Amino acid sequence: MLSCKELVAHSSDYLDAQLRLRERISVRAHLALCWRCRRFLRQMRVTQGVLRRLPEAAIPELEALTARLAELRKQNS
Ligand SMILES: [Zn+2]
Repeated sequence: MLSCKELVAHSSDYLDAQLRLRERISVRAHLALCWRCRRFLRQMRVTQGVLRRLPEAAIPELEALTARLAELRKQNS
């Protein structure tokens, strides 16, 4: 079973579908039991969706924002 911290560490790869099958299954298992990580992933997904629609110049700032969200998430766990 993943910890919330490990889930956060895997989250961007999970959203990019970069995880191996085993890792993806552990992430899903964790998400099934942990509403806080579900909420976190939802925020990440929204942020990534926004990133894709923006001109490149705006991206570094939003990447900083994503990193900050991940930081906050770690502190709260
Ligand atoms: Zn969790």
